[in-house]
Amino acid sequence: MNIPKSHPRFVSLQTREKLVKGFDNNLVAKEGLLAHGRGEAFDYLIGEKTLKSAKKAISAAAYTLQNAKSPVISVNGNFAALCAPEIIKLSRILGAKIEVNLFYGPESRKRAITKVLKKSGAKEVLGINPKSARRLKGIDSARRIVDKDGIYSADVVLVPLEDGDRTLALKKAKKKVITFDLNPLSRTAQTADITIVDNTTRAMKLLVVACKKKKVKRSYNNKKVLSESISEIKKNLQRRAKLA
Ligand code: ATP
Ligand code: MG
Repeated sequence: MNIPKSHPRFVSLQTREKLVKGFDNNLVAKEGLLAHGRGEAFDYLIGEKTLKSAKKAISAAAYTLQNAKSPVISVNGNFAALCAPEIIKLSRILGAKIEVNLFYGPESRKRAITKVLKKSGAKEVLGINPKSARRLKGIDSARRIVDKDGIYSADVVLVPLEDGDRTLALKKAKKKVITFDLNPLSRTAQTADITIVDNTTRAMKLLVVACKKKKVKRSYNNKKVLSESISEIKKNLQRRAKLA
């Protein structure tokens, strides 16, 4: 790479390499690589840095997670490949459970993800015991399966790169959904209670820091914060186009 290490693009290329390595190790699905590509495109437009609006969403997410009765962190291959140490830190700070939850997933991938999480320090990983499997209503196929001790009985679920149908199913099951999604227009972004429009690689670090501090309740309107993120992206693009 001939890009200075300080340049955000350098980090973005390193992240891409982690995903490719994750794919080679059966951690990340082909579809996960494509989802990452979609994310990269949005990250490019965002300017590969955390927007002010995303910081507001992170703060609201921290308050909600700190005050949850049974928070669960849902983990897929991409999230494990990019953020395993932060997932463990967050689960420790909050006393949150970790559940492997895939929409493209043979058992071998679930095992690979569990292994990475345990190697990073996770004591317990849910979502792998078929006896604990329960079904979410209103969604078809394997994507509806969740763990009875995890997402099924959670009040707040942190889900990265989620699919719109599943986000809706989680909402119908009365879960509070916090998501990371670089695309403020996706169905997930629009359906979740709190949408952090930022790369998980940056936002998870900030969320860990935020969850260590005692948060106070502030009013939060996801639709408003999403529209702020779109305005910020627009301004960012206009500024960059003038510089070109
Ligand atoms: P939806 O089903 O919610 O409408 P979609 O079909 O547009 O979304 P999916 O392929 O289901 O997209 O999910 C991938 C989403 O994850 C994309 O919106 C993409 O921007 C986002 N994404 C990918 N990588 C990251 C990342 N590292 N951090 C945050 N978001 C990401
Ligand atoms: Mg989708």
